[in-house]
Amino acid sequence: MKAARLYGSQDLRIEKVQEPTVSSGQVKVKVEWGGICGSDLHAYSHGQSPEPHPISKQSPPITLGHEFSGTIVEVSDDVKSHKVGERVAIEPLIYCGECYACKRGYYNQCSMVGFVGLNQDGGFAEYVVVDQNMVHELPENVSFEEGALVEPTAVSFYAVRESDLKPGDSVAIFGAGPIGLLTLLSVKAAGATKIIVVDISEERLEKAKELGATTVISGLREDIVQQILELTNGGVSIAYECAGVQPTMTNAVASVKQGGQVMAIAVFGNPVAIDMGQLLYKGANVTSRLAYRHVFPEVIDMISTGRLDVKGVITKKINLEDIVENGFEALINDKKQAKILVRPTK
Ligand SMILES: [Zn+2]
Ligand SMILES: [Zn+2]
Repeated sequence: MKAARLYGSQDLRIEKVQEPTVSSGQVKVKVEWGGICGSDLHAYSHGQSPEPHPISKQSPPITLGHEFSGTIVEVSDDVKSHKVGERVAIEPLIYCGECYACKRGYYNQCSMVGFVGLNQDGGFAEYVVVDQNMVHELPENVSFEEGALVEPTAVSFYAVRESDLKPGDSVAIFGAGPIGLLTLLSVKAAGATKIIVVDISEERLEKAKELGATTVISGLREDIVQQILELTNGGVSIAYECAGVQPTMTNAVASVKQGGQVMAIAVFGNPVAIDMGQLLYKGANVTSRLAYRHVFPEVIDMISTGRLDVKGVITKKINLEDIVENGFEALINDKKQAKILVRPTK
């Protein structure tokens, strides 16, 4: 079968590899659609650690792709909870099940946490084998395209659920990439009224407007915070940090009102400074969430019942053969792109 395997920095190859086979407790999934994520781009741009992952034992080259949907085509004899023909979305977290966090059910905080598609062969391939507890059934009215969006939606949905947001609150979202846009949809579904989105790309702000932002502000302006304070009569209840850099963190802290909250969702490449004096004066707090836990069924229900219409973040659909040029390079060079979906073809 064909698979897109990352050998190192900017070295992603479409190769013929052996079809994977199921072991005890596993299912084999024929992949329908897979989304390209910011963390895939990071791995592509910078390469990956040569060390084998402590749980998967796999080291590069690894087949990328952790946001994907498909159909179960084979199950191991001991798998009773899933069957052949089931349409599924994959929850790609790899965790030990033994550590302090895992024992408490906080598996996204596992000391050895990894991802199928970054630390073990993933969904940019015709077939994938995963543990049975990683697959979640999709109802008939959720398409495979939407199924591929369950994973990134879960990141935003989980952070919004874990934030202090109440219906009627005003929010600011810093960063209008896929996670920022899915956060926008999640806060809208949760009852936020004023939704202000900040990004340096006009095209992304256009997209944010289309998806329901009530105000968009160019990240290139000098007076971002001032504008937000004016629009909200003194600050937003919650600022969602979906960019992961110093200027957006600084603005997020400055944009929340008394008793407000900054929820950091982005992965930060470098440490950032926070104005503790501002937080103290406002009695505000900064918190963060990594990935998700125990929310895939809820996200699938939100999509199935029409409360989260996630299709709007898809900007392009391509074949696996074209993944480097029309997928990874397009995302790096074309800010119009949000979520690009990839289909493995025979
Ligand atoms: Zn991702
Ligand atoms: Zn663990």
